[in-house]
Amino acid sequence: MNSEASPSAPPRAATSSYVSTRGGAHGVSFNQVLLESLAPDGGLYAPTSWPRFEVGALTRNATAPFTDIAFSVMREFVGEAFSDARLRACIEETYAGFNHPAVAPLTQLDAGLFVLELYHGPTLAFKDVAMQLIARLISEALAQSGEKLLLLTATSGDTGAAAARAFAGAPGVALGVLHPHERVSPLQRRQMTTTGAENVLNIAVDGDFDACQRIMRGLLADEGLRVGRRVSSVNSINWGRLCAQAPYYFSTIAALGAGGGPVRFVVPTGNFGDAFAGWAARRMGAAGVRLLAAVNDNDALAHALNTGEYARKPAVETASVSMDVQAPSNLERLIFEASDRDGEATRTLFAAFETQGRTSLPDELLQALRREVDAVSIAQSEADAAMRSTFERTGFLPCPHTSVALAAAARAPFLEGPTVILSTAHPAKFPDAVLAGAGVRPQTPQALTSLAELTETFERAPADAETVAARLREFAGAKLG
Ligand SMILES: *Cc1c(COP(=O)(O)O)cnc(C)c1O
Repeated sequence: MNSEASPSAPPRAATSSYVSTRGGAHGVSFNQVLLESLAPDGGLYAPTSWPRFEVGALTRNATAPFTDIAFSVMREFVGEAFSDARLRACIEETYAGFNHPAVAPLTQLDAGLFVLELYHGPTLAFKDVAMQLIARLISEALAQSGEKLLLLTATSGDTGAAAARAFAGAPGVALGVLHPHERVSPLQRRQMTTTGAENVLNIAVDGDFDACQRIMRGLLADEGLRVGRRVSSVNSINWGRLCAQAPYYFSTIAALGAGGGPVRFVVPTGNFGDAFAGWAARRMGAAGVRLLAAVNDNDALAHALNTGEYARKPAVETASVSMDVQAPSNLERLIFEASDRDGEATRTLFAAFETQGRTSLPDELLQALRREVDAVSIAQSEADAAMRSTFERTGFLPCPHTSVALAAAARAPFLEGPTVILSTAHPAKFPDAVLAGAGVRPQTPQALTSLAELTETFERAPADAETVAARLREFAGAKLG
């Protein structure tokens, strides 16, 4: 039977399925990708084929609401998993909770130089843009399958805050957040601990962030936790988070009226999630996107792209804490794509990296990667100088992460077309670092001052895997049955 001619063919062309970057999974549904995060072979999920947009059609209207663009992009990835009406409702509800009507507004700093403000969500950092949406999609997916989900995250600040806010009260979900006791800023802690939600358990671990991560890895492998429920994590390897970041690349092109012309996006980078969303936007038809990944002193990514040697080094602490990453997880997606989607080559490369802590990128792959993205490492002093000079020249006070991107843009060679700096957090989230860098104290927005009046709820635990696991088993049993 010729299905194309079938009168009963569904009106929607969008069918979405996913493969693993390591070749061991095919034909996986969006809902499974959303709930699983990591593929069973240890790879990351990638769309089986990339949707293509007529970029003119998507970006022609400079006054299109952000939610329209988000809907057009997201429906290609969720496929038949959600009806158009449900997807649109989730998107409208998500971005109605942002404190700027444009969701991701552009501000002009100089001739040809713009900042894309991604910090208008509830925790004032860009992670809200995707986390708020996928929390709703995850609850829908669970309702469809009748499953329950225990989500876990170890956090040094922003991810835990965004997750706690996003999943507070989410049906079918319980969230466990581990943070290092007295090693996150009081403000970030309050953002996690004041949700008042019964389905969120915050544990302050008597140890550092590495100890939290170690405990969390053990929890994810704990079979006892999985009985009768799914267990997953909400880090940026989740494809649902990445695809929800692609819309603001398109909305920026629309707002600039840039059409298919070149636009340089400078992305402050940790796990390469936000930057990969920009790559995806170009792959989907936004041919003018040029990507510059800006990293801080944790330079493994820039070193790999500039020398071909990808080596794990100990992370160093900088003022842009959310970028203190030395093994950027989403680099695997770029390598998969740059190797013409060779799952075997990707698996071999990351297996070598995981066992030896280093690997050399083959020459052909390196050339391919360099055609996709440039990367530069910025020292703290240079980021601080960019923060100060930007504020003095323009009145715009950037956060420490945004400052890394501003410094990278100042150093980049000339390119035709506008430059857009992704501004990933509000400066008031990092008052001490901003005072040290720019010599001024950022004004505290209402969303942060009001946190001081709310009651904090968190528990303390020793840095002992079994104690934490026992508490989470009890918590998950009580909340999810
Ligand atoms: C998470 C984060 C980043 C880095 O984003 P990646 O997707 O990990 O590259 C940059 N800035 C801020 C404020 C963040 O919270």
